[in-house]
Amino acid sequence: MTELHYRTCPFCEATCGLEVETSGREVVSVRGDARDVFSHGYICPKATGLKHLDEDPDRLRIPLVRRAGELVEATWEEAFAEIDRRLPPILAEHGRHAVAVYLGNPNVHNMSGSLYTTVLVRALGSHNVYSASTVDQMPKQVSAGLMFGTMLSVPIPDVDRTDYLLMLGANPLVSNGSLLTAPDIRGRLRALRERGGRLVVVDPVRTRTAQAADEHHFIRPGTDALLLFALVNVLVTDGLTDLGRLSEHTNGVAEVAQLAGDFTPEAVAPACGIDAATIRRLAGELAAAPRAAVYGRIGSCTQEFGTLASWLVDVINVLTGNLDRDGGAMFPLAAAGQRNAQGRRAQGPGGRGKGVRFGRWTSRVRGVPETFGELPVACLAEEIETPGDGQVRALVTIAGNPALSTPDAERLDRALHGLEFVVSVDIYLNETTRHADVVLPVPPPSQRSHYDLAFGQLAVRNVANYSPPIFPVADGMLDEWQTLLRLTAIVAGQGPDADLAALDEFVAKTLLGMEQSVAGSPVAGRDAGELLAALAPRTGPERLLDLLLRAGPYGDHFGARPDGLTLGVLETNPHGVDLGPLRPRIPEVLRTPSGRIELAPEPIVADVPRLLAALSRRSNGGMVLIGRRQLRSNNSWMHNLGPLVRGRDQCTMQVHPDDAVRLGLADGGHAVVTSKAGSVRVPVEVTEDIMTGVVSIPHGWGHHAAGAKMAVAAEHPGVNTNVLADGSQLDPLSGNAVLNGIPVEVAAV
Ligand code: SF4
Repeated sequence: MTELHYRTCPFCEATCGLEVETSGREVVSVRGDARDVFSHGYICPKATGLKHLDEDPDRLRIPLVRRAGELVEATWEEAFAEIDRRLPPILAEHGRHAVAVYLGNPNVHNMSGSLYTTVLVRALGSHNVYSASTVDQMPKQVSAGLMFGTMLSVPIPDVDRTDYLLMLGANPLVSNGSLLTAPDIRGRLRALRERGGRLVVVDPVRTRTAQAADEHHFIRPGTDALLLFALVNVLVTDGLTDLGRLSEHTNGVAEVAQLAGDFTPEAVAPACGIDAATIRRLAGELAAAPRAAVYGRIGSCTQEFGTLASWLVDVINVLTGNLDRDGGAMFPLAAAGQRNAQGRRAQGPGGRGKGVRFGRWTSRVRGVPETFGELPVACLAEEIETPGDGQVRALVTIAGNPALSTPDAERLDRALHGLEFVVSVDIYLNETTRHADVVLPVPPPSQRSHYDLAFGQLAVRNVANYSPPIFPVADGMLDEWQTLLRLTAIVAGQGPDADLAALDEFVAKTLLGMEQSVAGSPVAGRDAGELLAALAPRTGPERLLDLLLRAGPYGDHFGARPDGLTLGVLETNPHGVDLGPLRPRIPEVLRTPSGRIELAPEPIVADVPRLLAALSRRSNGGMVLIGRRQLRSNNSWMHNLGPLVRGRDQCTMQVHPDDAVRLGLADGGHAVVTSKAGSVRVPVEVTEDIMTGVVSIPHGWGHHAAGAKMAVAAEHPGVNTNVLADGSQLDPLSGNAVLNGIPVEVAAV
């Protein structure tokens, strides 16, 4: 007999609703859930990964422990005993910073991972916390934090209502959206154009999104901030700024206007490759459109001026009066767990936000400041290699593959090999976890509950959608949150046999205490014991989620608002609950200390001279490397699923025909690409869709490491483009690695 289950897809930020048909313990099919309140039946090819991941024989089902140099199967007790034997002595002898943590991107797509890795990281107390954020979106989080007060106060283009969308470094028709949760983005962009709106794409590649746009402009990689500053310059000098109601909520307008003075269209045009007349026209169109939004994504983040570019995107949204209005760039109001919705912002001057603070500590070797509690992952290799006090000697990886996904990948791979102890919580024995001394498997998505805590704050519509597990956790497997709690107990000195129920109770109490401590919280001053009792008998992530929902902006406030949201309400609505379109939130959303938008935050202003110095740079005629997204791939984590990697080689180097002729490259042949950091040999794909002087290779490939156990991926290995990324090159404000615009030499094989 078959059954139908409804759940949110965990494979990208679009959060599509799935209809999953099962028979016994088998996933029979995966379709789009036509009744999902957000995605209305849309899915992409990756959705079937739910079935393939379930069936993948390489997926780990039993813990592994290294014995006599080999990883061998072990019981959970043996695995935790080994961790308890090896990890606490390192902490005791060398201190907490000697143990590093790396959190991979799948954690943000996983409710247990989102909620319980935080608990583990807090218990560990190490300064050496690293994640995929510093090879991705950290610049946007830094600029949003400084301008609006919290790390996820990221304005989202209101694509469903805008009249004009200027997009930089983003290819949502392939990525399905990033820092922009919008299932069926193709349909949404098509609707934009059908209602008379205009889509303009700026990208070094004529991407699929660019092909579907009204207008596309090639731009030299790494120069987005120059173009954006020139747009600001035109808005200011031509008198096109109109902040509207934002005027009374914004500091720093005059300072920004002054800073833009040097960045005339004529000054930036030679560097970015877009002529001055076009820049002036784009600025005029942005100002004239009834409702417009500027949106920049990974291409504009992962470059040397990533934070400046991310900041300028929102400067333009503010100066044109498009921030926080329908059809502009808006702040979603997520149902659970967002700091910009906690409590109340103070009325009147003074604000009540804490804002954000960076640089509370710095990396030991290079002295790079932390951002949001983490250090740049580009620093991890040197922190492992460099002897001295505070040297990283052990590593815990959770759902991450930094050996493939981070800069100077070969160096990091060697460094991982030299660690005294590595614990990995992962679904595969991959290029990173092969270095582990203990590997703790986790259940596949079909055996986990799910709620998107982060993406609710990045979505083009306010929705809430909870997915119960389709299957119970398989015999012999631990729920991921229990694994993370056990690790927490070990690093906290309670040992592997600690009372997990008591520890989980403590986690819930702590989370409740944090909610209650926020001024204006609907649960402030309430009896904690009564509130916790109201969550019973739930435990684990469900208890935490129910707490966050009930104390959240739509919540029932533990009975004070009986019609409000609870986890129970979501459980009875398997297709999700629609909470309505985005609505203006300024000033309520702001959590800056001033309670206002900070258009010219001091750290960002201090970085502008660096950009000014780049104005005079000219291409030396050499090639530069950029990355690219792929529809059937998400970083490195879906390459062992046969149907997603079948067909022609996806890991190719794209190059323009003119460059191919000049360099003697043939379509289908091979090239050697060499940077300061390393060298790879890669198949050549000649295409007119990339600008001259630029080559593109997707990241997340390079599956040929001995000791990894991913048979399908090994048959389609590709090359690891992060071998070419120079770990010394960072965006200084965010610590984000520079992955776009890497100087390379390209030679035919
Ligand atoms: S677009 Fe993203 S969320 Fe939707 S089905 Fe594809 S992978 Fe899943």
